[in-house]
Amino acid sequence: LVGLFISFSGDLSPAVASEAPDLDEFVATFHPTPGYFSTYTTEDGGLYLEVTEEQFGDEFLIVTQFAKGNGSGFILTGFPILTEMFYFQKRFNKIELVSKNMNFRAEEGTIQGRMVGLGFSDSVRKSFSPAAQDLEDGRYLLDVTGSFIGDWPSMAGFLPGVYGTGFFLDKSRSSLDYVKGFERNVEIEVDLTFGATGFINSPNVPDPKTLPISLHYSILALPDEPMKPRLADNRLGFFTTPYFDYSSVGGPGLGTRIINRWRLEKKDPFAEISEPVKPIVYYLENTIPDELMPYVKEGVEIWNKAFEKAGFKNAILAMPQPNDPDWDPADARYSTIRWIPNTQNTFAIGPSDADPRTGEILNADILVVSDWFTSINNDREFLADNLISDFNTRDQLVQWAAMMNPNNVNLLCDYGSSMSGQIELMRQTLIQDGMLDSGADPIEYIGEALRELIAHEVGHTIGLRHNFKASTATPRERLHDVEFTKENGLAASVMDYNPPNISLDRSAQGEYFNSTVGTYDQWIIEWGYRQVGNETLNPHPELQEIAAKSYMTGYLYATDEETGTGPVAMDPYAIQYDMGSDPFNYYSDLTVLIDSLWEGLEDRILEDDEEFNRLRYAAHLLLFQRFRGFPWMAKAFGGVEVTRVHKGNDLNVSPFRPLTATEQRDALDVVLQIFKPGVLDTFPMELIDRMPPERYIDLASNYNFGNRFTYPVHDFMTAVRINVLNIAFNPERLMRVRDHAFRSDDLSPFTLAEMIEGFTNTIWADVMMGLAPRSSLQRETQSVYLDMLINLGSNAAISVGSSAQANEHGQYEPTGSHLPPNLAALNPFLNDTHALAFAELVDLHGAIAAVLAVGIADRTAEAFLMEAKNRIEQAININ
Ligand SMILES: [Zn+2]
Repeated sequence: LVGLFISFSGDLSPAVASEAPDLDEFVATFHPTPGYFSTYTTEDGGLYLEVTEEQFGDEFLIVTQFAKGNGSGFILTGFPILTEMFYFQKRFNKIELVSKNMNFRAEEGTIQGRMVGLGFSDSVRKSFSPAAQDLEDGRYLLDVTGSFIGDWPSMAGFLPGVYGTGFFLDKSRSSLDYVKGFERNVEIEVDLTFGATGFINSPNVPDPKTLPISLHYSILALPDEPMKPRLADNRLGFFTTPYFDYSSVGGPGLGTRIINRWRLEKKDPFAEISEPVKPIVYYLENTIPDELMPYVKEGVEIWNKAFEKAGFKNAILAMPQPNDPDWDPADARYSTIRWIPNTQNTFAIGPSDADPRTGEILNADILVVSDWFTSINNDREFLADNLISDFNTRDQLVQWAAMMNPNNVNLLCDYGSSMSGQIELMRQTLIQDGMLDSGADPIEYIGEALRELIAHEVGHTIGLRHNFKASTATPRERLHDVEFTKENGLAASVMDYNPPNISLDRSAQGEYFNSTVGTYDQWIIEWGYRQVGNETLNPHPELQEIAAKSYMTGYLYATDEETGTGPVAMDPYAIQYDMGSDPFNYYSDLTVLIDSLWEGLEDRILEDDEEFNRLRYAAHLLLFQRFRGFPWMAKAFGGVEVTRVHKGNDLNVSPFRPLTATEQRDALDVVLQIFKPGVLDTFPMELIDRMPPERYIDLASNYNFGNRFTYPVHDFMTAVRINVLNIAFNPERLMRVRDHAFRSDDLSPFTLAEMIEGFTNTIWADVMMGLAPRSSLQRETQSVYLDMLINLGSNAAISVGSSAQANEHGQYEPTGSHLPPNLAALNPFLNDTHALAFAELVDLHGAIAAVLAVGIADRTAEAFLMEAKNRIEQAININ
């Protein structure tokens, strides 16, 4: 205590600090590892780090990732957790590890720089009393055992979300695995044990009370000479490093984004095309199967065609992992492509670490889940049969990833996980053609798919985001024109999710997968990597000229947030897994293709004397693909074609083009097809009896408890329909249908009334025509739709959970009063929708009453209508 008080007087601190033992004597028996920071390990597993005075203030990264996963959730080998920037500083006799705030910046030495320095603090993450020191040479030894063999990324916070039970780090069962030192980096790996307060329900951990997690830390020096950053441009899809720049006060705004890219400099700066001083090199880990290696290599080097447009040859190379036992794929100096096991979801991910100061990508590791192409049996997630729970599982995985690090969410890539289903569809087509037998897939088909997948993931690690509009660049009639696609790509970008390109006309089949990077890929690399003179954080004329093509076919760009089915996703041309200029035609062709595959499916899929369960997967997959396009098509209601352009573009193209009445009407016709009673007419129902799951209920089986044992085609169809309804009746979409009609000069605009009546008259067609609803499938959808109308048309929904409360007038409001005195509680923007839904309920009520009045022989249909009628009466005051 005395020491503590004395140290605050400041001038006495050196005397106190000198009480720490001499560094060299202290470490005499330790095992030293020289490196960027020298480290020392002790017999009992302690870890010490030496920092020198010269290093104070030097910024470095600590990159944390899972070293060994357990193959579930996102606890996967190599999965990135955190990238943080730190520096060391000395205050009194403490050495502090300080986390640097890079969100607010200004040029140092300026007034703004001073203001930012005062206004935004860095955070002291750790404070160390030196365990030993050498004052003469300014060396300090820090005991970092507890920091690294500890819960550095605060996993105890998000693990309960993943496993549903609490966790505590048990230090007694946690230890250092290794430490390796290099000139510019230090690599530390630790094996941690988290004890569970409850029971971990996962076959992936051997002991249900214990969760082993290994972490890898890369301590990575930042380049001495920072790279020149390039200002982002919203017309081109680079990952960015965003920050607030206070130096630009007086400019258009504070928000600044620089692109993430590799530092490529020409060896010969005056040559039109030159090799780079330092190429981008990917090491291919020796876990990749030999026969697939050539395709992985091609998938990397395919990008050289794009880099040539930027003035570089041999810019990007793939090399085998060095034959050196000390080589470590987690070593931050190396970019790698790794093959990892995962039982829960098959995906590939291409994370990269960028210098926060400049966006310079320092390294990248691509993780490919080993069984990504396994087309039969192993895809447990897919075999869950229940689409709604599948969607939830995906959302949950994304949420977990976000808990670990919100920045990771943009990096997540689903392409690999969808590829297995896509390959299966291609396989079945080829078997039907007689080009394959039902055995294993020939390596060239898998290889070509893998080449495209790797090209896609490499694209992420050279800075590119998804471009889900790229597939619209290829005219539908040229999709199988090999000369065209070899030059331009099947799509304008490998950054789309491109399905195999299967021709409906089997005699006119072109390339199945992209054999080149596309037009967009070449353009964006040219823009991002071309060296330009006098580069500042202002738009550069040379780059502006390149970017100006953004409205042209082949250069259109739309990414994740515009592509889902959420409110920002309003462009029906920005969708995934389609091919060619017209997504609607693509999906209608797909239904025709799949309907042609039902007949003879069993004989094509199964050998004699083979178990039947493979048929379950094959048939489920075809059904899934059969209806895959419909949710996307629902984006056409209130749809807007979005083009990323700047003012003054050559054709004066607007960023937004509302879909015409005809386009929306055509989409309604297509979408309503799946609400008709005959929707499953092409599916051979007798197949259900030949689609058992595996006949073992155990760990190795593809059958999970909670699933239906018999194939639930009925529930499958309902889930697809619910998904489409949710997308079509998203409030934001309904408002845009209204908006489009409001400002339309079309004589017959597409209206909310037309849309809602279209759904009612299709889903409730039988009752509206005076007939009893005889089909259980239709009744299920009718019931869901009725609930939706009630939500929209009454104030029942808003009363849920608040029905006991008085409204603003002090009156108690029971659910069911159709004219809410508290109008503010309703969304006024949905006023017309509300009225229309109300009117539909009144009409439906009348139609139901009429059918009931006639009398119904079918007891279930009668009961259904009695209940539905009562539900409407409970919701609105029908009189
Ligand atoms: Zn991706």
